[in-house]
Amino acid sequence: MPPRFKVEYFEAVFVFPKSEYFFHNQYSIIFVVWLLNFFFIFLSENILHTPIEYLKGVGPQRAELLRKELEISTYEDLLNHFPFRYFDRTVFTRIDTINDTTEYVQLSGKVVNVTEEGEGRKKRISATLYDETGRINLVWFQSLAWVKKNIEEYGHYVVFGKVSSFNGSYSITHPEVESFVRANAIAGMQPVYSSTARLTAMGLSNRSFAKITQALFQKIKAADITEILPFDILQQNALMDRYHALVQIHFPENEQRMQQARYRLKWEELFLMQMQIANLRLQHTVQAGYTFDKVGDFFNRFYNECLPFALTNAQKRVLREIRIDTATGKQMNRLLQGDVGSGKTIVATMSMLLALDNGFQACLMAPTEILARQHYQSITEILNTLHIPVAILTGTVKGKERKAILAGLADGTTPIVVGTHAIIEDSVRFRNLGLGVIDEQHKFGVGQRARLWSKNDKAPHVLVMTATPIPRTLAMTLYGDLDISVIDELPPRRQIIKTLHRSDNHRAQVMGFLKNEIEKGRQVYIVYPLIDESEKMDYESLLAGYEQVKSWFPEGKYKIGMVHGKQDPDERKRNMERFVKGDAHILVATTVIEVGVNVPNASVMLIESAERFGLSQLHQLRGRVGRGADQSYCVLLTGSGISKESYERMRVMVSTADGFVIAEKDLEMRGPGDVYGTKQSGILKLKIADLIKDTPILEACRHAALQLIDQDPQLLLPQHQLLKYTLEQKGGKEQWNKIS
Ligand code: ADP
Ligand code: MG
Repeated sequence: MPPRFKVEYFEAVFVFPKSEYFFHNQYSIIFVVWLLNFFFIFLSENILHTPIEYLKGVGPQRAELLRKELEISTYEDLLNHFPFRYFDRTVFTRIDTINDTTEYVQLSGKVVNVTEEGEGRKKRISATLYDETGRINLVWFQSLAWVKKNIEEYGHYVVFGKVSSFNGSYSITHPEVESFVRANAIAGMQPVYSSTARLTAMGLSNRSFAKITQALFQKIKAADITEILPFDILQQNALMDRYHALVQIHFPENEQRMQQARYRLKWEELFLMQMQIANLRLQHTVQAGYTFDKVGDFFNRFYNECLPFALTNAQKRVLREIRIDTATGKQMNRLLQGDVGSGKTIVATMSMLLALDNGFQACLMAPTEILARQHYQSITEILNTLHIPVAILTGTVKGKERKAILAGLADGTTPIVVGTHAIIEDSVRFRNLGLGVIDEQHKFGVGQRARLWSKNDKAPHVLVMTATPIPRTLAMTLYGDLDISVIDELPPRRQIIKTLHRSDNHRAQVMGFLKNEIEKGRQVYIVYPLIDESEKMDYESLLAGYEQVKSWFPEGKYKIGMVHGKQDPDERKRNMERFVKGDAHILVATTVIEVGVNVPNASVMLIESAERFGLSQLHQLRGRVGRGADQSYCVLLTGSGISKESYERMRVMVSTADGFVIAEKDLEMRGPGDVYGTKQSGILKLKIADLIKDTPILEACRHAALQLIDQDPQLLLPQHQLLKYTLEQKGGKEQWNKIS
């Protein structure tokens, strides 16, 4: 910044009362606009940040569930919960066209045979809906009083819901029902929102979502939703303004307006992402880095004395790339791609030793506590004979222990720390952090990388690792600021794992197969979906599953262990160790075992309710077997009436072991309506844009972002203040205040 700026800026602010100068000075005007902007931000923030429970029709109980199931906790979150499609209230599916691949339908017909069945908690109401072509069952387990009061025999209704099939006949559980007359009164396109079984049971189905969203729009005004994209960009790209885009995406006047709204919101999402990337790139082209010019004792002793196997050529090549890169005096930003089991950990560890050899500290950051602890364990083991102190820092490390670790990092006596994002918290200071490794990059945002940089006055070298291979062109756009290394070779003597998909009906056969393998001396994993460790329902199904396994495999003859995230860490460790040592035949587990576990004698991975996992996760789980010399198997057990998408995921798993192919499929198949899918398998959390289908928008955004950064690198111009504020909220302030 030229010094002139500072003086005039100062005068403009402080000489204000006695000087006309203020209004005739361009910087004063910038300042005023800037102040006004903030005033604006604070005003508008208040209402959008209101907790969702205060919205009409929500209340505390539903609010709690909305937060847990869909991460919606404020008005703003609800605004951003976009419909995944729309339906026309005048178009109906004929009942005789429903088949096994049908998902959501809107039917029109008459209701008969409304009957109450069962006793107590098992009570339910069933009914039959018929049109000119056929009939279908309707079932309710909840809100029975409402059903009894509102559904009349022979009444004409519009019914909306998800079709399921059972014993060859079709039914809809908890359909949304509206009288034909009323339904016809509402014209236009109706939004369809993704919901979950539990939300629907609580009365928050698609249609009630529309109702609460409508209530929200009655509370907020156009001025509450401020434009964040600069005016030029809006104009040049013919984008709808933000307020109207939000209105039109929820309640479109017509198809065309809806498309315009979606286009604008995709643009916004991808543009913000590209701005962050463009900024990162700018920063490290101007940043000097530490020079790692020697390969010293730690690295060499490890290589000669501790390495338990020969490195693959790919590992050697990547290590060489890292060594060259860190020796240049420029700051390294490298993405390391390598399929599950390709041996990234050892590369990370040796890179950290390189930092130590040059007198620097190093850290390794993982996305979850469990992953961090597994890394910690394997790294302390690998480094055992070198006597290097390694610390672990996660959210659960507190009090005295935490204090001691922070002290060790600050004074440099602890050279290596492994942990979660707790490492990048402001309170953590390093004496001289030379290298930061980030595992599973896709679970961290771009902003985290920037925070790591700001740990020193000079940014440390950064190595990000991912097991999710990304097509190269996409990687260029997504990680445009990173250099890329690839481990394209698995350690030797790995077998192709045979993958089978079986439905529940074949359970007995599958269990027989497991017994066979155990008789041959092998061990077996049985994995249950536990999407969220805090979920009671999933937890109960895990325990029920455990009991079931015990009934197939009687205790006298078989030893069964169980591990899950709710166990106390010591117990989990003991159970895990029993399995590792071969003292248990079967390990019943959740995705806790997704990463890091290595039991070469385990030859079967049985995945229960496999339809509930995303592709990447299935691939990761499968990677737990096939680590020894024996033929290994992965069995995907699903229900018999799974959706088309789930079936396709199973098909992909059976047909390929190539992590690349799976990653591409995963990207391609992620749909915004598939809540579980997006939660688990998203390479990046995008709300509306699709990285594959929206490549043209992505390109345009990249271009616009580079141009903007070129024109106003620090986003100081008044017209960029709201954009800057939004980016800071997203990615942390550090990123945007760094260069000066
Ligand atoms: P990922 O890339 O999935 O993180 P890991 O680093 O966990 O893979 O390595 C998977 C397994 O392969 C580990 O047990 C590791 O010890 C082993 N491994 C890594 N490199 C080699 C190698 N060059 N030769 C043999 N085994 C190796
Ligand atoms: Mg790993």
